Amino acid sequence: MSNESLANLLKEERRFAPPAELAANANVTAEAYERAKADRLGFWAEQARRLSWETEPTETLDWSNPPFAKWFKDGRLNVAYNCVDRHVEAGLGERVAIHFEGEPGDTRAITYADLQRDVCKAANALTELGVRAGDRVAIYLPMIPEAAVAMLACARIGAPHSLVFGGFSSDALATRIQDADARVVITADGGYRRGKPSALKPAVDEALSRPGTENVRNVVVVRRTGEETAWTEDRDVWWHDLVERQSESHTPQAFEAEHPLFILYTSGTTGKPKGILHTSGGYLTQTAYTHHAVFDLKPETDVYWCTADVGWVTGHSYIVYGPLANGATQVMYEGTPDTPHKGRWWEIVQKYKVTILYTAPTAIRTCMKWGDDIPAKFDLSSLRVLGSVGEPINPEAWIWYRHNIGGDRTPVVDTWWQTETGAIMVSPLPGVTSTKPGSAQVPLPGIAATVVDDEANEVPDGAGGYLVLTEPWPSMLRTIWGDDQRYLDTYWSRFKDRYFAGDGAKKDDDGDIWLLGRVDDVMLVSGHNISTTEVESALVSHPKVAEAAVVGATDPQTTQAICAFVILRGTAAEDEGLVDELRNHVAKHLGPIAKPKRILPVDELPKTRSGKIMRRLLRDIAENRTLGDVTTLTDSTVMDLIQAKLPGAS
Ligand code: ATP
Ligand code: MG
Repeated sequence: MSNESLANLLKEERRFAPPAELAANANVTAEAYERAKADRLGFWAEQARRLSWETEPTETLDWSNPPFAKWFKDGRLNVAYNCVDRHVEAGLGERVAIHFEGEPGDTRAITYADLQRDVCKAANALTELGVRAGDRVAIYLPMIPEAAVAMLACARIGAPHSLVFGGFSSDALATRIQDADARVVITADGGYRRGKPSALKPAVDEALSRPGTENVRNVVVVRRTGEETAWTEDRDVWWHDLVERQSESHTPQAFEAEHPLFILYTSGTTGKPKGILHTSGGYLTQTAYTHHAVFDLKPETDVYWCTADVGWVTGHSYIVYGPLANGATQVMYEGTPDTPHKGRWWEIVQKYKVTILYTAPTAIRTCMKWGDDIPAKFDLSSLRVLGSVGEPINPEAWIWYRHNIGGDRTPVVDTWWQTETGAIMVSPLPGVTSTKPGSAQVPLPGIAATVVDDEANEVPDGAGGYLVLTEPWPSMLRTIWGDDQRYLDTYWSRFKDRYFAGDGAKKDDDGDIWLLGRVDDVMLVSGHNISTTEVESALVSHPKVAEAAVVGATDPQTTQAICAFVILRGTAAEDEGLVDELRNHVAKHLGPIAKPKRILPVDELPKTRSGKIMRRLLRDIAENRTLGDVTTLTDSTVMDLIQAKLPGAS
């Protein structure tokens, strides 16, 4: 980025105070900020006491070799014991941990007592296969309860897991198995996707035919679809054969707080995936605390639902570890939001009386595109807190979410964090913060985040720059697996002693933080850095637009010119004057500098498998280049469709 700081264009005046009842009974009040500010480490030491330690830690943070942190280093605990057994011991064995809803409509209610039996059996099974503490286990499963069971079984025996999202190809799986040098792969014959069985096992077979995967001794296969599956004798074993015959008791062994819990490869929006390493005590402390604080979880009464896949960090931290450490009751759904109909999610909310919903802007914008009448058919009155994660949420999508899903009652918490941060870092608190549509607003208690300029100076209120974290936090990544140097280079070399998140951000006049998209996506137009997010949000604020993606294309006059790709809402027509209307709309909202030079209505946008817009491919199109790597796209035919719509395409 040039020295010109990010132009601060968007003005958002809407404010929503916390509902009085929620504020009066909130798990966390404004006092927490004061407490954490006065004694940050003392605050985290206190949060660590949410967990059951075999040996209580006496040292909170060892930062003697920055940026390699050790949190709670002399403490010892078992993560799975904390997520399962201790709730059973506390008399909560009959509480439902997971309401599973399969895409075809099959359901299972799994109590904490059930989960304890399942995890113990799976831990015994892995032990029988020779898996020892420290061995890596790759998990490539659909969204079925066995995914959580497998993760917890690994945690129980101290074997770091590496989940690979079930939608990834054999290539992605092979490189992740190689990089982590996995010893066992846990998979399924397949899962259900859009009303059909979708096979998974063939990708495992393919991946294991590659060099560098020879250390995989066994493949454990869950039977989900019952489809015919190729079999390699002596290597493959059915989950039901292996796990069912195991003993239901397993004594959890305590591990050091810094024992590796998992490796998770970032989704690859920007380049070669990085194996992010997370450890045990600090990670579990912060995921449990943030889940309690940000969602105001009341485990006795709430029904929580996070729609992410367990293969993403959101699934790790806010389906498995945070909620289960807190003894939550949650919904787990296998399939897509539109199978067998576009109201499936809302039907699930109604059926289980979901009270807390955590999803991504991409899903919200898709629902906007499908139309308001779909959620309106369902009773969503049980909802009391809504969350968003994954991308900046456009103010208009935020308002749509609050209004159409939250019935204008529920706070919306926009949570900023990353695979690397392990847990939520910047977010409103639903009982404390007056929320602003589109802003993640404030660092959580105990978290130090700010916005700096190119010279690492903190920007004044009202100015833009880069989001940085200025103090270590318990659930921070410890390194990139096998590559300490890349850890230093990627996160700690841009600014001295500060973690560089790679995201552009601004502070508004109240000092609240707004995320403005990835630094690589920021546009330079006539000497001004302009955020893709702000131009996209301006477009989405037009009643005809459901979703927008904006890129800067090389331009002889202005360095870069703004090019926008827009998806129209259900009923909007692509008429003659539309493009001018949208250009003028942006100019009116953000000023003439941000007026897109080109606007192209499209049916779909290129997205990563976790639902994020891949702007670099759109930049290739806007600059008439051959497309870069499309392997992490959900659907690579989207790019052909967009190219076919370009003026001049036949
Ligand atoms: P890669 O690092 O491989 O390119 P990725 O960044 O998409 O992949 P994640 O760790 O899942 O992988 O995503 C974190 C990123 O998502 C953040 O750095 C930020 O760009 C974006 N993000 C997440 N939550 C928010 C939010 N609430 N507001 C704005 N951006 C967000
Ligand atoms: Mg990233």
